[in-house]
Amino acid sequence: MVPASAATWHGMPRQEIPWFPVVDAQACIGCELCYVTCGRGVYVMAERKVQVAHPYSCMVGCSTCALVCPTEAIRFPAREVVRRVEREHKILQVVKEEAKARRGRQDELRMRTAAEESLARFTCRTRMEIAGAFGDPHFLGQLRALIADHPVDLVNLELHVPTIKGAAENTPAFMRFDVVSTGQEDILAFLPMLRDLARRNGFVLVDETKL
Ligand code: SF4
Ligand code: SF4
Repeated sequence: MVPASAATWHGMPRQEIPWFPVVDAQACIGCELCYVTCGRGVYVMAERKVQVAHPYSCMVGCSTCALVCPTEAIRFPAREVVRRVEREHKILQVVKEEAKARRGRQDELRMRTAAEESLARFTCRTRMEIAGAFGDPHFLGQLRALIADHPVDLVNLELHVPTIKGAAENTPAFMRFDVVSTGQEDILAFLPMLRDLARRNGFVLVDETKL
């Protein structure tokens, strides 16, 4: 059995390349290390010995199983076999084209990932909750002035003030609102200005949730 991916080696029919393991059955102690090491299904176990069932599924140039075999029961052709194939079939030219295609795929993947990350960061509605003493009416005026210069609005504004008298005495209270884009645009760059305004007025940002 030759998996589709291994039917050719850089464009060359895999079955024309004599690179595969040969097991010395006398030396094999059936430890199964090569059987579990090979990720290409080259081996099967039969009667406590390993057998090469799918020689052309072996990856050209790989000799891992021979390296790990405790009894050195596995043999491969000389490396010159692979070098000759590389030379005679101009494999390196094919590889250049394959590498170019791979780089193209990687670039495409990088761009797609960057676009997805940018989309994940995009936000046009964020809920904010701040705490502090809202007795000073100047804050609302500052808020109004800030949003006047940007394509955003604050909606669903709620102010939780324990008592009117308390407000005058700067009793702590909560304010909650949704920052929304008025043009379906990203408001990420605007949010730090809001945070900064709150901080400058001595308020604490209790919660900020992208909606
Ligand atoms: S690793 Fe060596 S000894 Fe172990 S099963 Fe494979 S050929 Fe046999
Ligand atoms: S050389 Fe590599 S691919 Fe080939 S049989 Fe051994 S482990 Fe599998």
